[in-house]
Amino acid sequence: MTPLADAAALTAAWQDKAPGRSPHVLALDWDGTLVDLAGHPDAIVVPPSLSPLLNRLHQPPDRVVLIISGRARDDLARHLPGFAGVLLGNHGAEALGTVPPGAWRRVISEWTRRVPGVWLEDKGATWCVHWRAVESAARPLLLEQVQEFLDAAEDPVYLARWGHMALDIVPRAANKGTALAAWLQRHIGADWRHQALVAALGDDATDEDLFQVVDPQGLAVQVGYREPTRAMFRLPNPAAARRWLAERAVVE
Ligand SMILES: [Mg+2]
Repeated sequence: MTPLADAAALTAAWQDKAPGRSPHVLALDWDGTLVDLAGHPDAIVVPPSLSPLLNRLHQPPDRVVLIISGRARDDLARHLPGFAGVLLGNHGAEALGTVPPGAWRRVISEWTRRVPGVWLEDKGATWCVHWRAVESAARPLLLEQVQEFLDAAEDPVYLARWGHMALDIVPRAANKGTALAAWLQRHIGADWRHQALVAALGDDATDEDLFQVVDPQGLAVQVGYREPTRAMFRLPNPAAARRWLAERAVVE
């Protein structure tokens, strides 16, 4: 496991980079970053203090909170009543107006029919095939089939990739990184890298696209433990991420 710098080092780096830069942008993943992962996306526990905390941190134009998730935007909004910041859903794919290939649905239907616990979350512009609820004895064969599917899956518009006990099916043209970069460019300008300080927090492979966009001027922060990563900092779990954000809310 690569040792990454801890919360204290992250705070020091933030304080080092912050002077003279505006806005300060927190680009935050949702599942596994702000809230603990659950067996089903609807089963997450959202602390009641989270939305007020994020609103204290979201003080435009100088401080902005963006939540960038694989969930649909409406789903995020439902879990964060009263949140005043920016929600970018579906890995940034909602603006493209595309849907995943119908042929892939047939393969996935076969898995859901044969393997108890597999289910397809249809989010419109993106899909996610979940197997967290599959009993462990059934997983090796399923994962072999998923890998075979990945090896054979070819589509000009969509790609399939591993997630946390899940397969994400998303447009090639859209990822969290391009979604964040497009937002920053539109709202801050082409020179956003030098004007703004952007910290990205995420736990999953799809968050590496966020890290790539904020590097090297910003701060890339992994929540939890996953390799490989290009993050420089690590917060061990969502509770630690919320604590670090709460400190920022007090200090700033
Ligand atoms: Mg996540």
